[in-house]
Amino acid sequence: MQAPSLSIIQSDVPAWQQMLSDLVTDPQELLALLGLDASQLPASAQAAGQFPLKVPRWFVSRIEQGNPHDPVLRQLWPLIDEETQAAGYVIDPLEESRFNPVPGLLHKYTSRVLLTAAPHCAVHCRYCFRRHFDYAGNAPSREDWRAAFDYIAADSRIGEVLLSGGDPLALSNRQLSWLLEQAEAIPHVTTVRIHTRMTIVLPQRIDAELSARLAASRLRVVLVSHCNHAQELSAESKASFKILAANSVTLLNQSVILTGVNDTSSVLIELSEALFGQGVLPYYLHLPDAVAGTAHFDVALDAAQGLVTTLQQRLPGYLVPRLVREEPGEKSKTRYA
Ligand SMILES: *Cc1c(COP(=O)(O)O)cnc(C)c1O
Ligand code: SF4
Repeated sequence: MQAPSLSIIQSDVPAWQQMLSDLVTDPQELLALLGLDASQLPASAQAAGQFPLKVPRWFVSRIEQGNPHDPVLRQLWPLIDEETQAAGYVIDPLEESRFNPVPGLLHKYTSRVLLTAAPHCAVHCRYCFRRHFDYAGNAPSREDWRAAFDYIAADSRIGEVLLSGGDPLALSNRQLSWLLEQAEAIPHVTTVRIHTRMTIVLPQRIDAELSARLAASRLRVVLVSHCNHAQELSAESKASFKILAANSVTLLNQSVILTGVNDTSSVLIELSEALFGQGVLPYYLHLPDAVAGTAHFDVALDAAQGLVTTLQQRLPGYLVPRLVREEPGEKSKTRYA
């Protein structure tokens, strides 16, 4: 007979939450899981100390065994290259602190605000433009959230609320539902947009309770996944997108163009086609931000434009992402193709 107490404990915590706390954080362990030797992939202790390695154990399955140049691994591994000090690469290239009127809220573009809804992510992406973000100083209390929603309520131009992060899907369903309720209570808000990497790195997160809550919202719901390479997609991500689509969620993807990950037209074409195969349309292809420690990922603007031109020739228009960069002080993202 099975021990009944165990099944009770397990049913209290959703399976995805258990998976979310089952993380690989030790570079040595990740090397061992991938059958790699430290000499093939030296890690920077300094980089890992400042922004630690963090990968859900489930997602390790998306990395090819024995390949130190794997494009998924490259997004996660604290390379020695991060120690290079490159001119013009800074802590806050987007000057986000200038657009932060209330803790947890960024208002850069007239009709939409971004809430840094969660103070952490399921994964640490080395190219992340928020890798130096002061999450601790921006971890809003309930009172701060009140102030944020009062700010939105006071500006009728704001029609869309973006939940970003950190990863908003790292929050519990209860916390997410509370945030949704606050947005739903403001008559001029019509749309909520969830920016997440969870559909890729832990698609099991999309459980029935969450999908039902999104379906029940009076708001239009848009979910923007962050996927950079077709290899990151899985049978599990496909199943999650299917549930979301069945609950009327609009599915888009944004990528960052990264040297050694997706800086060829064939990889980008494969990515667009694989996303479409899972019911997701490409939205943005971001040029990397000039964040300290990420210069080795940079792709020159003219090279990126050349790649998008090839995509335009080879793919239907709806599978070509818009090439953009975020520039501080601009009223929208700057479009380059
Ligand atoms: C990118 C971004 C948005 C959304 O911009 P769209 O062009 O609508 O996708 C909104 N607010 C902030 C602060 C952003 O960085
Ligand atoms: S999930 Fe997004 S916010 Fe989190 S580390 Fe990755 S890129 Fe940054």
